[in-house]
Amino acid sequence: MFNLSKYSLGIGDRFGRQGEAQLAALQEARALGVEITPVWNKSFREHRIIGSTPTDSRRAADAAVAAAGWQEAYFVDADHIGLQTVDGFLDACDYFTLDVAAMIGQAAAAADQQRAWQEFRRFCGSLAVPGLLSPLPVTEADLHSAIAGYLAAVQEAGRIYRRIAQQRADRPTVIEVSMDETARPQSPAELFFILAMLDRERVPVQTIAPRFSGAFHKGVDYIGDVDLFGREFAQHLAAVQAAIKTFDLKADLKLSLHSGSDKFAIYGCIRTALQESGAGLHVKTAGTTWLEEIIGLAQAGGEGLDLAKEIACRALLRQTELCAPYSEVIEIDPRQLPTAREVRQWDSEAFVAHTRHRQQEPRYNPMFRQLLHVAYGVAAEMGETFYRALDDHRATIAAGVRKNLFENHVRPLFLRANV
Ligand SMILES: [Zn+2]
Repeated sequence: MFNLSKYSLGIGDRFGRQGEAQLAALQEARALGVEITPVWNKSFREHRIIGSTPTDSRRAADAAVAAAGWQEAYFVDADHIGLQTVDGFLDACDYFTLDVAAMIGQAAAAADQQRAWQEFRRFCGSLAVPGLLSPLPVTEADLHSAIAGYLAAVQEAGRIYRRIAQQRADRPTVIEVSMDETARPQSPAELFFILAMLDRERVPVQTIAPRFSGAFHKGVDYIGDVDLFGREFAQHLAAVQAAIKTFDLKADLKLSLHSGSDKFAIYGCIRTALQESGAGLHVKTAGTTWLEEIIGLAQAGGEGLDLAKEIACRALLRQTELCAPYSEVIEIDPRQLPTAREVRQWDSEAFVAHTRHRQQEPRYNPMFRQLLHVAYGVAAEMGETFYRALDDHRATIAAGVRKNLFENHVRPLFLRANV
């Protein structure tokens, strides 16, 4: 029971109220023959902004699983933790996302660099591993940039992993390594060598989150060259496959896609690549649930709408502060945001039209949506007023959460060709 299935979804639930609705989307997929493991991810950053603890996430997950009658595996993810933050997550979580992006580009000890060079140089050339759809070209330049860019980060992953292993002893644990919150993407060849180095560091990595090319901003669509992404994604899958066959890595090691919600433009090529290769994938979609909460409040009208507008207006006044922790994963042009005065005049329909991700809707405003995405701390500050509103409008919000997760994410990523 303690296994991620081939497909898994990071469905973090910032306020811990939507677990049942999220599970309903996965139960719907299951009824159609596709198994998806739920993983409730929440970072130190989110806990700090909300004032919650990993134990709260664990309780919410356990309660949702019991209420929904979910019989399969599920996990609680200590998302984007490092050596400074991991301790508070050790008991409540069983999935750990080791964020080593801050160490990218730092130099490892010269002797370690030399050893990696000698050890991995023999793999340079075209990697034609049996079962690979196409050979993966890897050069000495790739190895050089992998060592210069990522060896120190991999060693940091080793330190975090050993801390977790020491404290959790025999309790089963899923390990993800994330390098996504950084400016420069990792090429498929670099990914191959990063996995080689993780193996050497004895990190039992189960999912790895590279920075893919193009922009993955929170809650909005992919920005970049879709065809290029598609080719590169297939090569990233091949790099993982090649690494599994070459090194002593887990046989079900898979890629993890962060800021994966709402990347509708690339879901088609991701699905095709998964189906052609038979590979698995983990996709993190956490923030989209909070957006459905505020949309549900706005839809409800009356006090719900007033609260949604109040959160939006406060967020418009506090852009700099709210955006700062997310600088790598959002891009907001303030000139394209509505003014607070405009927001105050909106009715339910107008609020939803500006916020919901529907590209055919001319009022849809991705800048506003990104700002709301990082504005959940404003809602948390409202405390009971906000939580009571979530309870008052529970059915509307739950329907939105389920539908958004199933129709906009699960179906195009994992189902469409089958169903
Ligand atoms: Zn991430």
